Amino acid sequence: MPESQELPISQDLLDILRCPACVREKDGLLVLEKNAWLVCQDCGRKYPISDGIPVMLIEEGDKWADTPIEDLPIPPPRPE
Ligand SMILES: [Zn+2]
Repeated sequence: MPESQELPISQDLLDILRCPACVREKDGLLVLEKNAWLVCQDCGRKYPISDGIPVMLIEEGDKWADTPIEDLPIPPPRPE
């Protein structure tokens, strides 16, 4: 990762965010991918970070669950 690439959200926020679909039963740990997506390590849902705001909606995560990480659009589309 180039040094100039900044996190789209703060590390503090990144540390506390969890997948809303999993958090009640599992860790729902999210991993930042492509500096624009949060990928749940438990269910594979993918949440876009739009303009610095993580879109933590289960239905939004559902939309991208089957999309391979390499096919995720950059920047992520805005939720409708
Ligand atoms: Zn999940």
